[in-house]
Amino acid sequence: MNQDRIRKNNERLVSVKTNKEYHAILKENEDLNRTNSGLEDEMLKKLDFLDEDEKSVSEGRSELEKMKIQAIEERESLSKEEEKEKKKLNSLLSSWKETSSKVDPEVMKRFNIAREQTNGNAVTAVIDSICQGCHMNIPPQMYNELQRCDSLELCPWCYRIIYWQERE
Ligand SMILES: [Zn+2]
Repeated sequence: MNQDRIRKNNERLVSVKTNKEYHAILKENEDLNRTNSGLEDEMLKKLDFLDEDEKSVSEGRSELEKMKIQAIEERESLSKEEEKEKKKLNSLLSSWKETSSKVDPEVMKRFNIAREQTNGNAVTAVIDSICQGCHMNIPPQMYNELQRCDSLELCPWCYRIIYWQERE
């Protein structure tokens, strides 16, 4: 719009009658040129900002791509690990089945009770009269029997199956 106005002013200059009018037109063009130059500066500044924004958007995008690839790799490695652990679990379960079928049913029954009462940690050593499961003292007579290793004993405090172990 300003440039249009300047062009029209220049056309008017040819047919101007007075010196005063002539100077007024020149003055107006000068002002318009100054305004235009200010607008151009502002435009350039905004273009610079735009460049910066585009740069950071593209940086963010490539970072995102990297994270995506990383997530895919992690998922793959986790699912491989899961597969491996499942195989391990199955093999442990079948070995458990096989072994427990060979154990005296009465012992198995006591083991299962101890397991339920101790969150699965059913068997523990007794060292120097101390149950390693609950760190309580085993009564002296029971400790003596335990050292003979010919009976199945339960800790009277935590109900774990206990066995005698020499201090290292
Ligand atoms: Zn105990």
